Amino acid sequence: VSDLNELRDRMRAFTDERDWAKFHDPKSLVLALVGEVGELAELFQWLPADEAAQRVSAEPLRRRVGEEMADVLAYLVRLADILQIDLAEVTRKKLENSAERFPAADVHGEAPEKA
Ligand SMILES: [Mg+2]
Repeated sequence: VSDLNELRDRMRAFTDERDWAKFHDPKSLVLALVGEVGELAELFQWLPADEAAQRVSAEPLRRRVGEEMADVLAYLVRLADILQIDLAEVTRKKLENSAERFPAADVHGEAPEKA
């Protein structure tokens, strides 16, 4: 939780120091987030699925994947800040909800029919 709050505060300061907050309406942030998810997906696009983990474990792809994941997280954290959503808290609640919906004993080793 404290790590997410620290990232939120640093993103806020970074934005304010550059007077960029005026560009950070929720719609623009969602589009920026989707763009970064696209950049992450592009790195995996033509990798054979059964080789992806191994290839990403090696440089330079490992560094590139980490950078795009950081971009995704940064925009997600910024969006949550703008919308005053406690990202850690809602994620905790979602995880608790999923644990109730999908008891381990019922679904162990099976993909849920609807996630
Ligand atoms: Mg990027």
